[in-house]
Amino acid sequence: MDLDAALGLIAEIPDFPEPGVLFRDLSPLFASADGFKAVTDALAATVEPDVELLAAVEARGFMLAAAVGYARGLGVVLVRKPGKLPSVAGRVEYALEYGTASLELPAGVVAPGSRVAVVDDVLATGGTVDAACRLLEEAGASVSGISVVLELAGLDGRAVLAGRKVSALQAA
Ligand code: IMP
Repeated sequence: MDLDAALGLIAEIPDFPEPGVLFRDLSPLFASADGFKAVTDALAATVEPDVELLAAVEARGFMLAAAVGYARGLGVVLVRKPGKLPSVAGRVEYALEYGTASLELPAGVVAPGSRVAVVDDVLATGGTVDAACRLLEEAGASVSGISVVLELAGLDGRAVLAGRKVSALQAA
């Protein structure tokens, strides 16, 4: 399956999780063997050759990063929601439309000076990926790039991530 056909499997769900929001549901893409392979290969090609580790954002980033890591021969560090990790290197709080959220990095996994690429499914306002990048940078790593399947360009997440390399397989 070519990449366009794979990306065409992403469903658009109006009024979820609240009225007025058009939610992109990647479930049909993930469930398609050919679609998942096409997207994994395309994401893997966006990762810079000098990257030493992938960082995955909970939860859909986990499966994408695992597949990309296997394809590229890289390991994965899981950037998690609070309360899941027994020992944390750091926590970053970030703004949501209503309220705040936090992400945590496990202790002792990211070596200072290492080059890391961040993987997630959707880039919307950029707050989530920015929080992951800040966690990695606070741990002394450098973020070589950010790879996502879909970028919601109207929300201008790239502005939040200014100065970092963003690769999106599709902009909507
Ligand atoms: P941001 O922090 O506003 O960029 O939101 C990105 C996070 O929210 C990602 O971890 C996505 O998984 C999730 N997200 C935001 N919008 C969508 C969507 O339309 N479909 C699926 N996930 C979304």
